[in-house]
Amino acid sequence: MAKDQIPLRRSQPVRAATPSPRTAEPHPGAVGSRLVTPARPPEAHSAPASSAPPEPANVLPATVAPQPEAVVITRSDPKVHSAPASSAPPEPTNVFPAIVDPQPEALVITCSDPRFHAAFRQFVEGALGLRPGKYVSFTVAGGGGVLARPDTLPKEFKFMRDRIELFRGQFHSLKRLIVVNHEDCAYYKELSRKAAWLQRPIHAHLPRDDMQSVAQVFARSLSHLGMALEMYYAQFVASDRAGIVIDRVETGRE
Ligand SMILES: [Zn+2]
Repeated sequence: MAKDQIPLRRSQPVRAATPSPRTAEPHPGAVGSRLVTPARPPEAHSAPASSAPPEPANVLPATVAPQPEAVVITRSDPKVHSAPASSAPPEPTNVFPAIVDPQPEALVITCSDPRFHAAFRQFVEGALGLRPGKYVSFTVAGGGGVLARPDTLPKEFKFMRDRIELFRGQFHSLKRLIVVNHEDCAYYKELSRKAAWLQRPIHAHLPRDDMQSVAQVFARSLSHLGMALEMYYAQFVASDRAGIVIDRVETGRE
């Protein structure tokens, strides 16, 4: 792991104007951010599954005004992707625990947006009950947006499809394809600048509306994988964008 990845977890002054006991401890990945934790302390998202659910159950903290310092590229292989946060710090510090013989049930596609990163992980590991090793994380700008556009974004679609097929071939335990899109996605904003072919007007919730198309494309081009498609949509719950709610999107095709 490169040295320049380490500062992601370095503490920095909290930028929030109003000090609060709940903002005093920066969350990993939330450098310089104000956090709102409706029910559980920041460390709770990686706590054992037996922990009490958050109240209200489907509202997760957003990372407000993130100031990411690095783009971290990791493999999606669950053997090396994630380790329990409660593990004792290894020595030397550049050695981390692997997950031996993972049996991932789900391939989870999410966007890279740092405002949603902690919420996505809490959602997958808490609400969906997929512990590290039980899922393959496929994090890419735009989440599943490309899966809605095989004809207009053929190269990007091939990139996504090839990797989904790769993981499915590598892990025969994979039976679920989970796509989580979110509102106010920067990838979609970029699309609106580049893509004159995009007939529908860009709006904040296009990533949700796109899921109807994702379901159609999945049925047409990815059904050979033998996986069940689940789709979810994440949106802010208030104007301060400190909380996120993630709801399932039904298309009638799953
Ligand atoms: Zn996004």
